[in-house]
Amino acid sequence: MALYVHKYGGTSVGSVERIKEVANKVIAARERGEQVVVVVSAMSGETNRLVALAHEIDGSPDPREMDVLLSTGEQVTIALLSIALQARGCPAASYTGGQVRIVTDQAHTKARILDIDTERLREDLSAGRVVVVAGFQGVTESGDITTLGRGGSDTTAVALAAALRADECLIYTDVDGVYTTDPRIEPRARRLDRITFEEMLEMASLGSKVLQIRSVEFAGKYNVALRVLSSFVEGPGTLITYEEQGVEKALISGIAFNRDEAKLTVQGVPDRPGVAHAILGPVAAANIEVDMIVQNVAGDKTTDFTFTVNRNDYSRALAVLEGCRSELGAREVTGDTHIVKISLVGVGMRSHAGIASKMFETLANEGINIRMISTSEIKISVVVDERYLELAVRALHEAFQLENSHHAD
Ligand code: ASP
Ligand code: MG
Repeated sequence: MALYVHKYGGTSVGSVERIKEVANKVIAARERGEQVVVVVSAMSGETNRLVALAHEIDGSPDPREMDVLLSTGEQVTIALLSIALQARGCPAASYTGGQVRIVTDQAHTKARILDIDTERLREDLSAGRVVVVAGFQGVTESGDITTLGRGGSDTTAVALAAALRADECLIYTDVDGVYTTDPRIEPRARRLDRITFEEMLEMASLGSKVLQIRSVEFAGKYNVALRVLSSFVEGPGTLITYEEQGVEKALISGIAFNRDEAKLTVQGVPDRPGVAHAILGPVAAANIEVDMIVQNVAGDKTTDFTFTVNRNDYSRALAVLEGCRSELGAREVTGDTHIVKISLVGVGMRSHAGIASKMFETLANEGINIRMISTSEIKISVVVDERYLELAVRALHEAFQLENSHHAD
């Protein structure tokens, strides 16, 4: 019997009406002869509301207590969905993360799943019941409630699919799949039929917020076929899966961008061994994550060193560098918060040269100046002024013909 894990996000269970619609979808799947485990998020806005309540009392509430608080959101939706299923004559049982025994480490508010006991769920499934599990939560060995980080219900669903060896994990959400780029920027953006785990990880870490990044890592590691699809309109969605040999690959799958970066430049530092460490050491010590790094070679035995950080960390990073500027022997520290990173992502570029030069040519034709470049096996990223974001994304989408479904040969 085919087994599917369905996950419904906050907007899909945002009201009693919508919860009833979820029940209809689950019942339809059962009538097709499928076994279903359902993972739900809290009703939309609920987790934010709970966070705000705590912050009204204390600016930095105890993480253990936050987990007790935040886990209540999902407990409401599992019960309501089970009630809705039973009201339609469908046998169902709801479980919190702790009741299943989704065992996590003790990192409150960002816990990681260590183990899942599937015994009780399997008993229910064999007895013909739909199992409804609270997303986003687990329990430590010693019985404390934990949560998995914002968006963590995706990870619960994938972890359950892996533990139960489900045929597919269906992530029902308010978009109908993964797109070649953000349709709000490029209206001709196209829904992808499939994308690899690796590409999806790049897209997700670059700001395509369809799935929690950890859930994609998990799915890749345990090879769980993941499908993102709309809970409001019918359609096949996007299948996220491993790279199949012999299947034709698109050269470029998508264009991702990240508006949350800022860049810092340390100018005129002596060009000698240890400089990169002298600059980035204190930044790392301040717990600031660095993304792209570029070091120039200058003729006069000094060099400029540029890197990007999250925009939220910009002022702290600037202060750290100012603090060690004279020690570094640097001339000046400058920065820019009005930048964006734009990336082409595609496993097809592994076997095709010339993608980078076509990207640079396209940007040059639009008069867009590239400030930084970095490449990996399946990604080319550039940093440009933020005012060029729309123009650059549209020009690249056009140049690589992403509006058409086509494959590399
Ligand atoms: N309710 C949690 C959140 O809003 C978890 C989730 O929805 O995935 O982040
Ligand atoms: Mg989500």
